[in-house]
Amino acid sequence: MRRLVGLVAALSLAVVAPARAVQVRSVQVPSVQVREAGIRIAYDRPAEPAARAVYRDLKRRRVLEGLRTAIGGVRLPRTLTLRLSACGGDANAWYDPRTQTITVCYGYVISVIEAQARVPAKPPQPGAPRRDAVAGPVAQVFLHEAGHALFDLLDVPVLGREEDAADQFAALVLLELPPAEARYAIDGITRLLLGQAAEEDADILLADDHSLALQRLANLLCLAYGADRRAFGDLVGSRALPAFRAARCAAEYGLAAASLARLFRRHLRSGATERTRIRRAFRWMFRP
Ligand SMILES: [Zn+2]
Repeated sequence: MRRLVGLVAALSLAVVAPARAVQVRSVQVPSVQVREAGIRIAYDRPAEPAARAVYRDLKRRRVLEGLRTAIGGVRLPRTLTLRLSACGGDANAWYDPRTQTITVCYGYVISVIEAQARVPAKPPQPGAPRRDAVAGPVAQVFLHEAGHALFDLLDVPVLGREEDAADQFAALVLLELPPAEARYAIDGITRLLLGQAAEEDADILLADDHSLALQRLANLLCLAYGADRRAFGDLVGSRALPAFRAARCAAEYGLAAASLARLFRRHLRSGATERTRIRRAFRWMFRP
């Protein structure tokens, strides 16, 4: 089992879990189980009321169906399962290469909701509605784990730390959204990572296989600015994107996007372009 993204590891486990243990019992009966294009989805029905509310909301938005569409353009040699699960109350997310399953726990989504509620709304997203603070991080955690899954299933070579590569994969997918929608997602993730950065112990986490929250944020914002100077230009000069880093972001994005395209090109189905597929896949993020 791979460790989940650092924001989950540090935020959810170290910060959120002790503050509020989420007691969730799963009845282990997936209410939706669909096989399509080599990707199976499952919404496990949780027993705990807070998790049940999250379950109903995510299911109504068809979040897993959207994520299946997002990565469904890739031909997979084995079935990949996307699962939302009770996880015995854990606030966690991971990809398990033994079962080819991405699991995101309802407790993780609850931990994001709670963490975002603790962070006062301030620039770069003054007055942003709560939902946009949650949808972006939920998309990010699934895409990050999807990165691990695709590296594994397609035997994609990874240089550098895999956790950073999975973050990069997630960012590059989200940056295929139209500018305003990409900004919506990036702002929510920014808010979460800033909150996490304020709470994490950098000395302890220096040896972790995940980068520190502020580094993850800097990498994310650099890719975003490199992808679209107009949509993300106002972030230059912020703590996570100082001017010296911003100057290199177009090159960073260009290298990352070209590398991703090259590594995945031979695995893509023909037909709809990936950008079109991704834009259709994330409609759930903007449903009321
Ligand atoms: Zn990871």
